[in-house]
Amino acid sequence: MGVQEQSPFDVDALRDDFPILERKVGGDVTVPGEGPGDETPLVYLDNGATTQKPNQVIDAIADYYREYNANVHRGIHQLSQEASVAYEEAHDRVAEFIGAEGREEIVFTKNTTEAMNLVAYAWGLEELGPGDSVVLTQMEHHSALVTWQQIGKRTGADVRFIEVEEDGTLDMDHAADCIDDSTKMVSVVHVSNTLGTINPVSELAEMAHEHDAYLFADGAQSVPTRPVDVGELGVDFLAFSGHKMCGPTGIGVLYGRESLLDSMQPYLYGGDMIRRVSFEDATWEDLPWKFEAGTPNIAQGIGLAAAIDYLEGIGMENVQAHEDRLAEYAYDRLTEFDDVTIYGPPGDERGGLVAFNLDGVHAHDLSSILNDFGVAVRAGDHCTQPLHDELGANSSARASFYVYNTTEEIDALVEAVDEARQLFA
Ligand code: PLP
Repeated sequence: MGVQEQSPFDVDALRDDFPILERKVGGDVTVPGEGPGDETPLVYLDNGATTQKPNQVIDAIADYYREYNANVHRGIHQLSQEASVAYEEAHDRVAEFIGAEGREEIVFTKNTTEAMNLVAYAWGLEELGPGDSVVLTQMEHHSALVTWQQIGKRTGADVRFIEVEEDGTLDMDHAADCIDDSTKMVSVVHVSNTLGTINPVSELAEMAHEHDAYLFADGAQSVPTRPVDVGELGVDFLAFSGHKMCGPTGIGVLYGRESLLDSMQPYLYGGDMIRRVSFEDATWEDLPWKFEAGTPNIAQGIGLAAAIDYLEGIGMENVQAHEDRLAEYAYDRLTEFDDVTIYGPPGDERGGLVAFNLDGVHAHDLSSILNDFGVAVRAGDHCTQPLHDELGANSSARASFYVYNTTEEIDALVEAVDEARQLFA
């Protein structure tokens, strides 16, 4: 299958929504935007790390601060009521977006990492013990890997890793060996942030459920880039971050099945999450507030709802088609170089990112050359150190795409990689 000729939406028109895309780069990075030689157009291909924000999201956040800034759930004055309604409705918006039953199933956290830790602490520390197992994959992000590893050490539960095949997909026979009656949780990344692999989450959820285990999907790279429906996937928990989907930093989401969240103890204690407190004891607020102690990230929650409105305006099927197109194009173009190694599945079977190495050149040096051409990619282990060990690489460069990227920008990446090849030859 060849690369589709066109994106399903008008990318040039959409780019006007993102003021930062007009930035030129170069010069003194210690004074953002003011360095000498600030003249190279920005080619932002680091969307797996965080995406840029459209005016619609920036305005929604500014409107909150300008028009109705107040704490939520704490006042009967008008501003507090307006802020509370907007913040609560943001939960409804997220629920609708991922096909959850309602706001009870949507806990706002700081990010994906905090959502993972919430479940690991609130559920894992209570429920796991010696003789139990938690099953991960070798391609988990550190946010899942380190978290469950540490919970395993504290509870005595065994932490197992489903192996990754040469082609970057999961070894499903090994998955069937790993998931057994001792398994209480299977935690799997939906779209790998290093390999781009799209994992068979529904199949893994079925396997987990056959053994009465839960499935936790890390949606950090999938929710921003494709339609995700928790019912269709059959997951028990899902985590993702607002900043990777046009929303602000400081807001993440934990989806949990209501009955499960209901049965869990709070993770953080304090104001806003209680119903009644005496000197001896306390009772908890309803879901999801039981898990949102203290003043939450109000502006960020409202900004996330605006980001979802924005993405739904494009249509998540269209976002996915655009990502697929760019991934395939980048994969095809980078395979033109026989000294470039790309990790993970072929271009037409991956999410919108490509991690690669140029023979004999450290990824940091490569990305520094790319930066000279205005091309922003991520270099390092992408919070998947053990996976990089398996790949036999200590790091890689990663180009990751979003709604505003174009094939011309991928051409700019490829030209800059070619310059680096010649420089280091
Ligand atoms: N999981 C995956 C697959 C990711 O790509 C990331 C971020 O890079 C995370 C988890 C952690 O996200 P955050 O840093 O927003 O908590």
